[in-house]
Amino acid sequence: MVKRADAIVVGAGVVGAATAAALAESGRRVLVLEQGVPGGAVSGASLACIGTHMMDEEELPLLTWCCEAWAELDRRAPRFEYNRCGQLRFLRHENERRSAETWIGIERAAGLRPELLDPAEVQAIEPGLTGPIVAATWSPDSAVVNPFLAVRTLLDVARSGSADVVSGATVTALVTRGGRIAGVETSLGRFEASIVVIAGGPWTQRLAATADVELPIVPRKAQCLATVGTRPVIRTVVGACKAEGGVDAGYTQIQQAASGQVLFNTVLEGGVTATGSPEIVPEVDRAFVRDSVDTLLFLFPALAGLDLLRSWVRYEAVTPDDRFLTGPAGPEGLFVAAGDGGTGFVRSLGMARIIRDRIDGTTPPCRDDLYDVGRFAARAAA
Ligand SMILES: Cc1cc2nc3c(=O)[nH]c(=O)nc-3n(C[C@H](O)[C@H](O)[C@H](O)COP(=O)(O)OP(=O)(O)OC[C@H]3O[C@@H](n4cnc5c(N)ncnc54)[C@H](O)[C@@H]3O)c2cc1C
Repeated sequence: MVKRADAIVVGAGVVGAATAAALAESGRRVLVLEQGVPGGAVSGASLACIGTHMMDEEELPLLTWCCEAWAELDRRAPRFEYNRCGQLRFLRHENERRSAETWIGIERAAGLRPELLDPAEVQAIEPGLTGPIVAATWSPDSAVVNPFLAVRTLLDVARSGSADVVSGATVTALVTRGGRIAGVETSLGRFEASIVVIAGGPWTQRLAATADVELPIVPRKAQCLATVGTRPVIRTVVGACKAEGGVDAGYTQIQQAASGQVLFNTVLEGGVTATGSPEIVPEVDRAFVRDSVDTLLFLFPALAGLDLLRSWVRYEAVTPDDRFLTGPAGPEGLFVAAGDGGTGFVRSLGMARIIRDRIDGTTPPCRDDLYDVGRFAARAAA
């Protein structure tokens, strides 16, 4: 096993896998250390929608770049069920129309092509969506991927460069020497590298603290349900029109996997923002199950009677402004890429690119200052 590498990436979720691929492609010997199995934490539990719709306005250039990078990865390595199925965001009430129109205006100004559809137009795209919605927005370029296969594909890209991936290696502390990073201590012993990237999702702040780096990341509870597999009914990613207050005001995402399982991550009455420890993974809330099933059947009444198969809870890593912390942090050679705000799958390729550009001193394709690790401390001091 390699005990020394050019760069160590802590965590083999989608962010770590993408970072390893980016660094290996630029010629570095990379070592990925994962405490569990690749994709086994938040990433594998994701609904993995790849899109720009109703996201952070300032991040639209980066999100657009990320969507194109995912499409490009699919052209190079079509092994992760990339499906450009489009995304609908339904409106239950007339008073949501203004919000939908505002989002459409913002995205069109950024060169994207969302539309507002009436129920008949919605049914032409999504015939099973027969519930009494008043309208829906349509973002034709959104896609979904299989999250496990996407992580595996990125790690394959990394390995075809010169990366090693070690599962079951818990990084317990960062090692510094003379004020710069020198490696990591792990459950398998010490590994040395002059560059360490922590892509540890909701565990990132704990490891960073071992080098006296404080990160404002909070774990936020996200819940999901899956039915048994059924005939193809849902063609797109179906979500609720984003209300003011974002996730706190309620959130819905429904889609059908290639396996035929209907997956939904639906809370219209709030309740997804409970915080907790990523180690303590509780059951999903009863109210969440009720709201989710109600919403699914409101939209797709023909799915009544479909059995639920499983549920799961994960803790996403959230920062005060819902944007990643990506870039150098603390001692020279230490980098962080975490704090996904619940949409880290789509943004992972962009975060990996920013890390690579920061290390190489090259220019990133989009603004990277939005993700400065020190931005909250700088704002507090101002
Ligand atoms: C239900 C659900 C639906 C979602 N839907 C979407 C969506 O549609 N679109 C979207 O863009 N995003 C979505 N997300 C969010 C997205 O999945 C996450 O933002 C993304 O997966 C985070 O990836 P990550 O690599 O940062 O974290 P993780 O996948 O958690 O990876 C971090 C890894 O680091 C490892 N690790 C941590 N600490 C250590 C250590 N000390 N030593 C060794 N290893 C360590 C962990 O074991 C873990 O494997 C969803 C999330 C959930 C839960």
